[in-house]
Amino acid sequence: MKNKVSIHWFRQDLRIQDNPSLNHLSKNYENIVCVYILDEINCDRTIGSASKVWLHNALEDLNQQLNGNLIFLSGDPLKVLDELTNFFDVEEISWNRCYESWTINRDKKIKEYLKKKIKVSSFNGLLLWEPWEVLKDNGTPYKVFTPYYKRGCLSKPPPREPKETNLKIYDHNFKQTSLKDLKLLKNKKWEEKILTNWKISEVEAKNTMKSFFLNGVSDYSEGRNFPSKKNVSRLSPYIHWGQISVNTLWHNAMKISRTINSNSAEVFMSELGWREFAYYLLFHSPNLQTKNLQNKFDRFPWNNDERFYNAWIRGKTGYPIIDAGMRELWQTGYMHNRVRMIVGSFLVKNLLHDWRRGEAWFWDCLFDASTASNSASWQWVAGTGTDSTPYFRIFNPITQSQKFDPDGAYIRKFIPEIKKLPNKYIFSPWETPINLQQELSTIVGQDYPRPIVEIKSSRELALSAFASIKQN
Ligand SMILES: Cc1cc2nc3c(=O)[nH]c(=O)nc-3n(C[C@H](O)[C@H](O)[C@H](O)COP(=O)(O)OP(=O)(O)OC[C@H]3O[C@@H](n4cnc5c(N)ncnc54)[C@H](O)[C@@H]3O)c2cc1C
Repeated sequence: MKNKVSIHWFRQDLRIQDNPSLNHLSKNYENIVCVYILDEINCDRTIGSASKVWLHNALEDLNQQLNGNLIFLSGDPLKVLDELTNFFDVEEISWNRCYESWTINRDKKIKEYLKKKIKVSSFNGLLLWEPWEVLKDNGTPYKVFTPYYKRGCLSKPPPREPKETNLKIYDHNFKQTSLKDLKLLKNKKWEEKILTNWKISEVEAKNTMKSFFLNGVSDYSEGRNFPSKKNVSRLSPYIHWGQISVNTLWHNAMKISRTINSNSAEVFMSELGWREFAYYLLFHSPNLQTKNLQNKFDRFPWNNDERFYNAWIRGKTGYPIIDAGMRELWQTGYMHNRVRMIVGSFLVKNLLHDWRRGEAWFWDCLFDASTASNSASWQWVAGTGTDSTPYFRIFNPITQSQKFDPDGAYIRKFIPEIKKLPNKYIFSPWETPINLQQELSTIVGQDYPRPIVEIKSSRELALSAFASIKQN
């Protein structure tokens, strides 16, 4: 006689604490089987390279917390779960919801199929507000962030409070599976490099939150714009992979807003709101990653010159703030938000590249790569979204770096070859007098590239391309 068990299917909720599905099962079952399934069959694109590295490490941590009882499988989850429910005497299966259209369609199919033999439940473990619950008075979705957040979200009852999970570990007798079999790791040298400075575990997610709330948040509203300051949380990969719940962050920030610095904590909460809005847009516009939200941009005459693209991804455009950002991304799996906006604007507006190419590179290189936030942010930067920076607003990489990296600390960190240049030239090295270049052994065109495009003329080209789609 087999013991009755339940199954928790881990997806983007790689944590034990405040996990609504696990909480639900642990209240009702002694024996919970935990499984992770790598699904490369139903997905519309596979997980990016950096994300795979994060995922591998997050799963390793989860498996340790479960005393090695996490089952690792790959394939079509419908088949895999069917087999598991046949092996164990399963009464209920449960998971936390995901919001990409392919996951929604897949999960619906799985639910319908498994419901014929067992109980199937799903929960919200990823968002503060379900996208279908926040609608305008006329029942249609919001298109602009501020009314969505203020009128839509903040007027609802507050998001649920986080709950501890009382999980009893179940030593099951399913065959031995190995994380290595998922083959998430491929390029040892690069992987080791990007992992420097990151500790990937549920405990570390909590530690990162605590240290941010202790040190970073007080000056968040101002400091968050400066890439060399320590005022941003760097929580995005932990949040994306569900190693900490947004509810935990929201309620802790709420407490801080009532005590220390209400403005900064509220700005932080509104940034979590931007993440919600990205998932909201994805849910209501399932093609967010592939289709311009404003369809007049379907006619935009992108240039897509490969030489420009290669210079951009390698951090060799000749504009230090752009190159520092692109190198930060490659070397650390992360890029500061202000710099993400500047490099995005440069690719789309000065190099006239389709935003989808930038989105794809970020998808491959970011630890926090999320279809929702990445696509929504790229559409925002490109001006193709519904609540975007207008296309004609083009960031100037020189003035942006003067303003937000005034002592060039961020630039010098990621572009050591120009670190000797004085502040006067660090933002535009090509203006350094040749005798000073020689004296500092920093020859522009040799040690560091000349600019691949000129800012003023490339801006004018972009504006005339934009005018051409307005007239059509
Ligand atoms: C072109 C571009 C691409 C982006 N791609 C992604 C992506 O793939 N995944 C991702 O999580 N974020 C993305 N962002 C949003 C933002 O840059 C990152 O969330 C932020 O830089 C993460 O760093 P942090 O955790 O230190 O942020 P903090 O400033 O500490 O913010 C706290 C949290 O709020 C959320 N958040 C903050 N800003 C935004 C925002 N503008 N949009 C959505 N959520 C936000 C994140 O979950 C973040 O961890 C992108 C932004 C741009 C301009």
